[in-house]
Amino acid sequence: MLSRKPSAGGRDILYVALAEAIGEGGCPVCRCVEKAERNFLWTLLYEHANDPHVRGKIIEGNGFCGYHFRRLIEIAGGDPLIGGLAPALIVENLLLKYVESAEADARLETSCYACSELAKIEESYVSSFASRLATTDLLYLYESNPKSLLCYRHYLEVRSRAPREAARRLKEVQLEKMKRLLGELRSYIAKHDYRFTGTITESEASSWVKAVEAMKGSGWASYRFSCAESAKRAARKPSRPR
Ligand SMILES: [Zn+2]
Ligand SMILES: [Zn+2]
Repeated sequence: MLSRKPSAGGRDILYVALAEAIGEGGCPVCRCVEKAERNFLWTLLYEHANDPHVRGKIIEGNGFCGYHFRRLIEIAGGDPLIGGLAPALIVENLLLKYVESAEADARLETSCYACSELAKIEESYVSSFASRLATTDLLYLYESNPKSLLCYRHYLEVRSRAPREAARRLKEVQLEKMKRLLGELRSYIAKHDYRFTGTITESEASSWVKAVEAMKGSGWASYRFSCAESAKRAARKPSRPR
């Protein structure tokens, strides 16, 4: 049963972003972070490629992670306003550093500037979602839109920061949504039986894709989550002597 619709409460910029993201379907935090990531990388290329402070930060961290280098290539290649010069200026500085490192037999570790900035942005959306669950109608909006489903990691993070009653209600809503998706997925599989003569709904056909996002998130958030998991596994695994 839907929660009673509360007042919208304080409608600040984070509330508006989260409410819009709920309307778009999938994980609202992943959606907000994807938009923030695109804006951040686009602005970096368009406005800050010559900014000594930003260039210094990028070079200090030895560039970007592989995921963000690929995103930069996509954004620069897909926008004639940017083109190749801005990324070339950044990459030239970095490649020089790599050449010098190879000459000195040193090893460069990367601390991605984009990842560290996005982690702060992600945190602000997670904590805003959590605190606004109790003071605005975000939980009502989330519950009312069957296409909106927090990914597993963002659900855990939002829930852990939410006030107790809002956290309890969020868990109920989340489980209902996850079980509904599981039902759709099972229905999609069952309808492949040769004896079935009805139609597969659009929502059922995309259920397995939605399930992947529900488990792992999307975009940078999913990349980061998977990498953090494998890094932990690698750290736990004792190294075998050769
Ligand atoms: Zn997410
Ligand atoms: Zn990165």
